[in-house]
Amino acid sequence: MSTALPAPRLVDRFGRVARDLRVSVTDRCNLRCRYCMPAEGLPWMAKPEMLTDDELVRLVGIFVGLGVEQVRLTGGEPLLRRSLTDVVARIAQLQPRPRIAMTTNGVGLVRLAAPLAAAGLDRVNVSLDTVDPVEFADLTRRDRLADVEAGLSAARDAGLVPVKVNAVAMRGINDHSVADLLAWCLERGYELRFIEQMPLDAQHGWDASDMVGGDEVRARLSERFALTPLPATDRGSAPAERFLVDGGPATVGIIASVTAPFCGACDRTRLTADGQVRNCLFSQRETDLRGPMRDGASDDELAALITGEMWRKAKGHGIGTQGFVQPLRPMSAIGG
Ligand code: SAM
Ligand code: SF4
Repeated sequence: MSTALPAPRLVDRFGRVARDLRVSVTDRCNLRCRYCMPAEGLPWMAKPEMLTDDELVRLVGIFVGLGVEQVRLTGGEPLLRRSLTDVVARIAQLQPRPRIAMTTNGVGLVRLAAPLAAAGLDRVNVSLDTVDPVEFADLTRRDRLADVEAGLSAARDAGLVPVKVNAVAMRGINDHSVADLLAWCLERGYELRFIEQMPLDAQHGWDASDMVGGDEVRARLSERFALTPLPATDRGSAPAERFLVDGGPATVGIIASVTAPFCGACDRTRLTADGQVRNCLFSQRETDLRGPMRDGASDDELAALITGEMWRKAKGHGIGTQGFVQPLRPMSAIGG
């Protein structure tokens, strides 16, 4: 009989286990998507507040020791962190090596896809809400569609496959063109997933009655494509409800995080660029790791702070319930 102690894990009171760590590597961004940021941007974190590469890699290593199997780099716009390739290479050295993924707006990916893949990046999700240049400029407040398209091709050429595209439909901006986006992705072999707009914008302008729900997106796609739902057993902790498109093999996903929350199967935890661990996007609290780390805390002490925060994870996000309060930190400073 083995006498080895079981590996410590990131568990909460409801039995969920976190295996997927989202790391925000910066809160800065070069786009201004309407569902995320105001036109003028936000007061960015000061450099001394941000984790250094050494601090970030050390904390990710502690999470990996606690059972994290996938690390997703995000932001803000992760490609704006100058040392990103180096950070990826160092995370790829951790044992056991986690899978490394990134969520990016794709601007700058044309230059960075190959070096990031060489450093150990396994997969990429590129956020692209529309392929209509006018809609793109309206939604992101920047004229960068061509860069994103080139970034997507570069990701595919660098072997960061399957290349996934994340899209949010906004009423009156791109809700009429969701089927065009799917057609465009199908032609290029990109896997498209729609995500419902959540109350995480810095402006606090989210309005439930104005949100384009997953059912509406599905109905609009169904006007042009035959969508066959894949069995829920294929879903695991992945939040997307997936559909075969026109009999497959291509699929499209719909993540109805607001109207059909998947909190019961959530396997995520989050680390912000300034070293706060958050057990949920919508959490009202976070635990500081940066301060204790800079004061000399050991790995075991930091691990205890992380497991303590995980234990406090709420059962669900509570959007739509009385008493729901949007978190103070916007999505761009949490890491989406
Ligand atoms: N800048 C990168 C990007 O856009 O992919 C990474 C960070 S961004 C905050 C991560 C994801 O969050 C993107 O796919 C974006 O579309 C999504 N997002 C941002 N604000 C959102 C909101 N209010 N509701 C739903 N998704 C949102
Ligand atoms: Fe930037 Fe991503 Fe937010 Fe758009 S969604 S403003 S690309 S952080």
